Amino acid sequence: MNDKLRQIPSIELIMQSDHFKEILRDHSRSLVLSALQEEIELLRNRILSGEFQDMIGQTGAFADSVRTKLRDSTRISLCEILNGTGVILHTNLGRAILSKYALEAMNSISGCYSNLEYDVNKGVRGSRYDHCSRLLKELTGGKSALVLNNGAAALVMVLRSMALDKEVLVSRGELVEIGGGFRIPEILECSGARLTEVGSTNRTRIEDYREAAENGDPGLILKVHRSNFNITGFTEETSLASLIDLGKEVGLPVVHDLGSGLLLDPSLLGLPPEPTPKESLNQGADIVIFSGDKLLGGPQAGILVGSGVHWVEGMQKDPLCRALRVDKMTLTSLEATLLLYRDPEVALVEIPVLRMLTASLDKLTERATVLAEALIDAAVDVNLKECFSVMGGGTFPGFEIPSIGLVIELPGCTPNRLSDKLRGLPVPLVGRVEKDKLLIDLRTILEEQDQQVMECLSISLT
Ligand SMILES: *Cc1c(COP(=O)(O)O)cnc(C)c1O
Repeated sequence: MNDKLRQIPSIELIMQSDHFKEILRDHSRSLVLSALQEEIELLRNRILSGEFQDMIGQTGAFADSVRTKLRDSTRISLCEILNGTGVILHTNLGRAILSKYALEAMNSISGCYSNLEYDVNKGVRGSRYDHCSRLLKELTGGKSALVLNNGAAALVMVLRSMALDKEVLVSRGELVEIGGGFRIPEILECSGARLTEVGSTNRTRIEDYREAAENGDPGLILKVHRSNFNITGFTEETSLASLIDLGKEVGLPVVHDLGSGLLLDPSLLGLPPEPTPKESLNQGADIVIFSGDKLLGGPQAGILVGSGVHWVEGMQKDPLCRALRVDKMTLTSLEATLLLYRDPEVALVEIPVLRMLTASLDKLTERATVLAEALIDAAVDVNLKECFSVMGGGTFPGFEIPSIGLVIELPGCTPNRLSDKLRGLPVPLVGRVEKDKLLIDLRTILEEQDQQVMECLSISLT
């Protein structure tokens, strides 16, 4: 064993070898040195554990592993993925894809100084909170608006600013987990407000809220849109309208956490009824909260709009608002996305989430057919199959969208093994295994990515 350790050439010798000439031309000496030291350490450990037998002392082998190591460590870890899962708002894959317009806006503003907090006309300090406000108010009918880091942040801000040390009345049927293991009660608790559970899981009546409001020290009534699951059977839910009536009667503000942030009529998108921020404000909710990167199709953000100005002005002065603020990239891409909504027809075409959602079966079948034909000589067998996509991102539970997928089979290879291969490509293609077949749902692949999908499926097996 010691023999083997002694066979490892010195670092100096390895670095001077021909194999390292090119590497040292492309990378700094210190980067190469530390990568090589790690490789040598690895080899030593292998020898000591009796694992390693051959190739000791071959500088060529060191060069290969150092080159790979440097290549991997000098590129950013976030990478492009082709989403063939059929989940449109896939939280693990980054939720909404931004529109070209939003990307261009972000690109042109991020690489230069901007009027982020500067009033160009007056030459004095301005407010970053002004940038998306005008459009948010226009699109929702609100009198005030604020953009924070994400939906959860907006919720914490609202609760802290409107109900610190007071009770927040929430139906037991709405104490949902919003994903990633985070639950509304926990978020509520960390805001400094106190949770008062009202009613039961399946039935909550207005009398339950009234009783809670008349006892204790209530600060606000919170209605959480149960966006990621359904309760069916013997159920009763109190409408937003009756909560607002009660709120007026007992002097409590009503906050509606909508989650999704749909700015268009759901029927335009073939979706089941879903409350919009505009409707909630119209009915008289004091504050409505929704995310930027769910159905709205913009960047990650937590948006809140108010039917008055009082509450939001208070929040803007709160130190927590500073802690949860968003940067210029978020504000630019959100404003660009909101601009598209001024014309619903434009929004439907330009915003990828909406375009995917409304893509027709005919169009998807046409694209799938072209792909299958182009792959006729490939090692994989490709067949069309009807399937179902879902919205995802904790929205529209149980709602399935008819779609078309490509069933990919490779003789002698299990679907899971084939998935591994496709995930190992330079641009990973992620599908889903359904009924023991690997399926690539075309609804979540952009038309301009079809060529990339084809390349994945033709090279994966060589
Ligand atoms: C998704 C969701 C949230 C959290 O929003 P994020 O932007 O993911 O932080 C809060 N409330 C509801 C009802 C949601 O659906």
